[in-house]
Amino acid sequence: MADQRAFVIVGAGLAGARAAHTLRSEGYDGPIVLLGEEAEPPYERPPLSKGLLVGAAVRDSVYLHEADWYPGQNIELRTGSRVTGIAREAAEVVLADGERIGYHRLLLATGSTARNLPVTGTDLDGVLRLRTLGDSGRLAAALTEGARIVIAGGGWIGLEVAAAARQKGADVTVVETSDLPLGRVLGAGMAGVFADLHREHGVTFQLRSQITEIRGIDRVASVLLSSGTELPADTVVVGIGATPNTELAERAGLTVENGVVVDQALRTSDPQIFAAGDIANAYHPLLGTHVRVEHWSNARNSGPAAARAMLGQDVAYDRLPYFFTDQYDLGMEYTGHAPPGSYDQVIVRGDLSRREFIAFWIASGRVLAGMNVNVWDVADQIGELVRSRRSFDPIRLADPDVPLADV
Ligand code: NAP
Repeated sequence: MADQRAFVIVGAGLAGARAAHTLRSEGYDGPIVLLGEEAEPPYERPPLSKGLLVGAAVRDSVYLHEADWYPGQNIELRTGSRVTGIAREAAEVVLADGERIGYHRLLLATGSTARNLPVTGTDLDGVLRLRTLGDSGRLAAALTEGARIVIAGGGWIGLEVAAAARQKGADVTVVETSDLPLGRVLGAGMAGVFADLHREHGVTFQLRSQITEIRGIDRVASVLLSSGTELPADTVVVGIGATPNTELAERAGLTVENGVVVDQALRTSDPQIFAAGDIANAYHPLLGTHVRVEHWSNARNSGPAAARAMLGQDVAYDRLPYFFTDQYDLGMEYTGHAPPGSYDQVIVRGDLSRREFIAFWIASGRVLAGMNVNVWDVADQIGELVRSRRSFDPIRLADPDVPLADV
């Protein structure tokens, strides 16, 4: 009987686990199967590149729930289970061992895989990527006083790891292809704030540069850069972006273009199948375009939205993209969506030199996004400015004496 079939969730990360939780909290009492490839039960990833690396967080604190919560909720959590296919005509997922599980509704929340450098030597000991709890533990052990850490990529992983490594007394070089770390996502001015912060804390940048070879016998000993420079290295961290895990969706014939294409209810081109988290390229009703967001907050919120849509509720997932970082004594939050080329101005309110300010990305007077740096409890107000779609007076926006509610 179709209605006895399970709600099956592929991917037991934050999006998948939050979806399972929401199905129950919304009153669904039928079978739920939550399938995860990793051996770990669902956990939060932000501490992996922050607190866990410096010992400010402990491993047990990252799990979403106690192990007995899943059976207590009658959620069948199956870790170490790899799904290899979706048989859409039969409405079944196929596991690596050939087992098939029928679904009434299916959620794909398969997340991303950390990209690897396309160079020789990435298989040497001491060359690490950072995606899983295990990766974080291995990296934490490598961040020791005087260790020579070379990081490929000046993105979020690269800079958070650089900050943690410097806190542990390691010697850090960041190799970044573009002119500045975070240059693409923040633009030159705001990226410069982060570059200066790291330089002040002793990080060396190799900009407009790439690792062309990783050298060593069994274990990494050095990296060769595109400039011809050879840098000694005890550990190489590869943080050059992530690739959404869309293979299942592709093979099942769902529409995939920069992720799995879904509507505002997170429904794929097959009405029985939904997608959430990193892989979902979702139509955003406020922004009027599809967006794919690889950040914690999107995993946290899109899983529950997909769950409600799977239950037949009328869902329009319109959360603004949001992310945060902590590096040394700088904490920041970013709210909104201002991809390269979408804005014509960046307005700063506050004190750039003391790194206490809000930056607004502006297009024709409208606020596309805002980033609060060491200024707190304003992210919701920034979100309201973005949502209003109004034009703002740049002078009032830049003036810290004008409350955000009154600009
Ligand atoms: P990322 O933020 O996309 O940054 C990758 C960086 O590597 C970019 O600056 C990129 O430059 C650069 N790059 C690309 N190829 C390179 C190469 N061959 N050599 C040197 N640099 C290269 O990705 P990530 O830092 O690896 O993070 C992975 C995922 O985790 C992302 O989705 C990220 O959003 C997420 N994450 C988020 C947070 C947070 O929100 N605080 C923290 C950690 C991780 P170009 O841009 O010029 O290509």
